[in-house]
Amino acid sequence: MSNAPLFNFDNSYARLSDSFYALVPPTPAMSPELIQFNQPLADSLGIDFSALSNEEMALIFGGNTIPEDAEPLAMAYAGHQFGNLNPQLGDGRAVLLGETIGKDGLRYDIQLKGPGRTPFSRSGDGRAALGPILREYLLSESMAALNVPTTRALAAVTSGEFIMRERMVPGAIITRVSRSFVRVGTFQFFAIRDNPEALKELADYVIARNYPELEGSDAPYLALLNAVIKRQASLIARWMQLGFIHGVMNTDNMSIAGETIDYGPCAFIDEYHPEKVFSSIDREGRYAYQNQPAAGHWDLCRLAEALMPLLDEDREEAAKLAQTAINEFPPLYTAYWLTGMCNKLGLTEVQDGDKELVEDLLERMATNKADFTLTFRHLSDALSGSDERDQPIRDLFTNAADFDGWAVKWRDRLQQETRNDNERQQAMYQVNPIYIPRNHLVEAVIRAAEDNQDFGPFYELLKVLEQPFSQQENREQYALPPKPEQEVLRTFCGT
Ligand code: AMP
Ligand code: MG
Repeated sequence: MSNAPLFNFDNSYARLSDSFYALVPPTPAMSPELIQFNQPLADSLGIDFSALSNEEMALIFGGNTIPEDAEPLAMAYAGHQFGNLNPQLGDGRAVLLGETIGKDGLRYDIQLKGPGRTPFSRSGDGRAALGPILREYLLSESMAALNVPTTRALAAVTSGEFIMRERMVPGAIITRVSRSFVRVGTFQFFAIRDNPEALKELADYVIARNYPELEGSDAPYLALLNAVIKRQASLIARWMQLGFIHGVMNTDNMSIAGETIDYGPCAFIDEYHPEKVFSSIDREGRYAYQNQPAAGHWDLCRLAEALMPLLDEDREEAAKLAQTAINEFPPLYTAYWLTGMCNKLGLTEVQDGDKELVEDLLERMATNKADFTLTFRHLSDALSGSDERDQPIRDLFTNAADFDGWAVKWRDRLQQETRNDNERQQAMYQVNPIYIPRNHLVEAVIRAAEDNQDFGPFYELLKVLEQPFSQQENREQYALPPKPEQEVLRTFCGT
């Protein structure tokens, strides 16, 4: 192996106070083998692995070879899990290798997930199973292609070990890339320990790294709170516009940088219903599809509480400032959501009555068990309206007349805008994907890999998901909803 530093790490988190992390190397995997390396992502990060063999790369991404400028550590954080505060979580099955500066000049965390136990592992084994690792790889890369802020997948390896879950399953490790793995729970960690110095240190770090435009502002910590609220409002609106259910919106899984993080039992909706839940651990539907904006709002209230000591010395004044900031979430979210939904319908401007138009469509989709993704995609082809053009959408509705009734109102509304149909259609194609990582497709990938060591279906699906907005030849089956016998009703954390 060459001696040039591979990542050119510059590890700013490791320079923070000791209480922020535990220095801990990854536990070497038994016999790591490379499943996938994300070359385009590596290129954008300025990481050059071209001199390395697949075996050498597997050793790095398996945690066996520590790159020379890495300073492996597990980050400390707390968090509310399903509403209950856990004061001590932290990276129990993840190790931050270091930080690299991308070609865009921005700083990125490079983290192994599944590299063995850390001081924060509690009773867990610190390992991750192959199924959830493939799921995270596919879903996070799909989200990136769908233009949703997200952590990325740089590489995945099998560990060569079997680990105990509901049964013995193959182990794997994913290397994730993020603008920062600091979470709402990281702020909570110091707030509940009554440590305002550390809280300030963390806030200053986040501002310098992720919100540099706020540096030097009169009230930087209030500005930080407002900025995080804004990013999360925008992020959750994007999820809702794509039928994405995160599944575990605990405060330790909410990113301060505004990315989608910690892909667990997440899933995309096929048949639309607002109360949809896939996660096996979400028994009360706390993180159901339609509850996500409220869950995000709740998590941000916890962030506001944690930041209070930095907002004002006077507790009452701090509470007032926090409350005012938090009150901005619902209108911000609604504005982001509505603008995006209008774009999905081919509208450039939001007018009075548009919210009702969108809600009316969603209600009809729910009653008629219409496929979320295909309904919107087919709308782009049905702009001018004719029996032939409407038929693909009508076929998605149990009672086609329900679509017809809505389409009359929609086409009336389109008349009030000036774009021609061709322009409008092109714009709609850019926001209404054909290909999403449907649960039954992801499940088939996992079965092939786990049962037959066959990664072919994984590579195929990954390729399709890289171009979610363009029709791909001979890939029709990837656009289709599941047949009843293919439907996945439950998704599991299981990492
Ligand atoms: P999650 O909400 O799934 O992202 O994880 C919640 C907490 O559990 C985090 O602190 C994880 O690091 C920890 N955790 C989850 N699975 C394991 C495992 N297999 N070993 C150790 N810690 C784990
Ligand atoms: Mg987590």
